[in-house]
Amino acid sequence: MHRPERERAESAARQEAAQLTALGVRAVALTWVDNAGITRVKAVPTARLAHAARWGVGMSPVFDVYLTDDFAVTSRHIGGPDGDLRLFPDLDRLTVLAGQRGWAWAPVDRFEQDGRPYAACQRQFARRMTARAAERGLRLRMGFETEWVVVTRDGPERGEPRYACSGPAYGMTRVVELSDYLRDVLDALTAQRVEVLQIHPEYSPGQFEVSVAAADPVGAADLAVLVRETIRAVSLGHGLDALFGPVVDAGAVGNGAHLHLSLLREDRNLCRDGDGPCGMTSECAAFLAGVLRELPALLALGAPSPASHLRLRPSHWAGVFACWGPENREAAIRFVPGPPDAEDQANAEVKCFDGAANPYLVTGAVIAAGLAGIEAGLTLPPPVTGDPADGGGQERLPESPGAALDRFTRSELLREALGDPLFEAVAAVRRGEVRRYEGAAPQDVADATRRRY
Ligand code: GLU
Ligand code: MG
Repeated sequence: MHRPERERAESAARQEAAQLTALGVRAVALTWVDNAGITRVKAVPTARLAHAARWGVGMSPVFDVYLTDDFAVTSRHIGGPDGDLRLFPDLDRLTVLAGQRGWAWAPVDRFEQDGRPYAACQRQFARRMTARAAERGLRLRMGFETEWVVVTRDGPERGEPRYACSGPAYGMTRVVELSDYLRDVLDALTAQRVEVLQIHPEYSPGQFEVSVAAADPVGAADLAVLVRETIRAVSLGHGLDALFGPVVDAGAVGNGAHLHLSLLREDRNLCRDGDGPCGMTSECAAFLAGVLRELPALLALGAPSPASHLRLRPSHWAGVFACWGPENREAAIRFVPGPPDAEDQANAEVKCFDGAANPYLVTGAVIAAGLAGIEAGLTLPPPVTGDPADGGGQERLPESPGAALDRFTRSELLREALGDPLFEAVAAVRRGEVRRYEGAAPQDVADATRRRY
């Protein structure tokens, strides 16, 4: 960040702060997401926003090697007590929070003290990969689904919690039971100008899902953070807890955070009207083939926690087979052709990812993998219909956090895309979490992680 840019940001922030103050906003939460998938924050009083825009807010780089339980490890480039970074709010995303009275929020980009971009900044990584696509005339539209389990606050910390509703999967009963709560979630998102597409009860006890309109890759990752923190705030306002961890009950269906994506050239959606499989263009097929090829390594980014592997089970709609298929909810990549006359609806859904993932790492890495597929002129294998668990012969994605880490550390593609400092920090965090939970009983892993994200 150079001086003129920061001076412009300072004067813009001064105007924003005046408006926020008039609206009764006292503080702005400045967030980023670490490599373990935890949203970390520094907050400033509204009156200090202009200063933050000009000089950034200090924060140690050590959080890039924090584990989910706040235990710090070290990587080749990052670790220990030394150093400081500057967090710069993205004022374009400044949002007054409807679920937290007197608060606003903005995501940050992280820089070195001398103004250079911080090499391990996940949000700038996602932006770099978006720019890499743009250099090839390509644009991505993306959106994360958010799944969560609603429990009462007086339930046990361990084992089966007290679910906030008792109706069946996708049952209207749950909507009736939690009608005020769900309306308030919708109201809060709408007040924050988040366009909600759907909200509904999911399969597991107490589980719900909300999906929001697609955005650019960085915007989609920002939205994933905003949607989650909004749900959390509204839940707490109702005396409830929202659990976003990959699994709440080690035996049950877990919380996914599926990534929907479509690939565009200019305004043309390349997921349709082509001569590739299922009506997609061959460029879209090559992009998806690139993602599919890299998926075993991508799993360490998209389903990063040991708890993720409790969720990743066949026949649980978590997409654990390295295959793709039209409308197939057991394939890691579900292709959604959409209605023939709906230009914007054809897209692909990466199903194996969950809410422990850093959404900026996910969007950036998926773009890198897809572009490599185009570069290599890859084609998709035949689509899979039906549950791949029944047929046999389909390759499973890595079946343990250690196996996923192994595939990640061997991915030259991801090392190049992420850059060494970020790549090594991610690997160190994964290694740390593998060790931390080695040999732990499944429910102990679920208990330790379900409230952390
Ligand atoms: N909850 C499932 C998961 O773990 C996904 C259900 C669905 O297909 O929406 O990913
Ligand atoms: Mg779902």
